Amino acid sequence: MKSLICVQPHPDDNEVGAGGLIAMLAQKGCRIVFVTVTDGRYGSSDPSLSPEALVDIRRHERLSAGRCLGVTEQVELGFEDAGEYDERDVVEALLPVLRRVRPEMVMTVDPWVPYEAHPDHQKVGRATAAAVLFAGNIAYPDAGAPCHIPQVGFYASSYPNAFVDVTRHWEAKMSAILAHQSQFVNAEWPLLQQYFEYQAAEYHRVLRSRSGLDELAGTATEARFAEAFKVLSTRQLHFFPAAVFS
Ligand SMILES: [Zn+2]
Repeated sequence: MKSLICVQPHPDDNEVGAGGLIAMLAQKGCRIVFVTVTDGRYGSSDPSLSPEALVDIRRHERLSAGRCLGVTEQVELGFEDAGEYDERDVVEALLPVLRRVRPEMVMTVDPWVPYEAHPDHQKVGRATAAAVLFAGNIAYPDAGAPCHIPQVGFYASSYPNAFVDVTRHWEAKMSAILAHQSQFVNAEWPLLQQYFEYQAAEYHRVLRSRSGLDELAGTATEARFAEAFKVLSTRQLHFFPAAVFS
């Protein structure tokens, strides 16, 4: 893949969902554009922090995390965290970026995960999928010339169908996550790190069993990590009920 856009609702979602894959692709020379939809102004429980101060802090953290992964370009759309914007606003803001970059894939958070309660994740995931559909037709003519984006990848999916070994990029992913100090440098981190590692090791087990590599794994004891995605062709994003089983 030579070009990828990663659309995240909040300034740290791409790292958590796909930091290993992003680091791997960047190393191989892929152009990676981060689009951050909201400003993350409410992502703290510290009453001494003003939302405006947090926006600034999180912008710096996001840029620093992007450098850890090798991100080429960062675009911020500036919607208010947990704000009253609607999906159409996000589609309109995304389309000029999609049609300018013309990526081979757009990645975002899976909005169809059961129990996902955050409206930003629901709205941004759905808006991104809609923008991928509309990028290829003559809707929104002011947003640039139509371009066909062949596929979309969802991270944090309950229905993953693609597993990527990111063991060699795990440290870069952890560094990028920890660049978001306001979010992760706290008493909860050891537990969270354990959870990330456990989940990624589980995904690696699925990867091994799917590729018939279980026997080869032998008694290797070193930790191995994978990330999981729901990858769909753009065609599967409309009137395609079997996509959930794809
Ligand atoms: Zn988020």
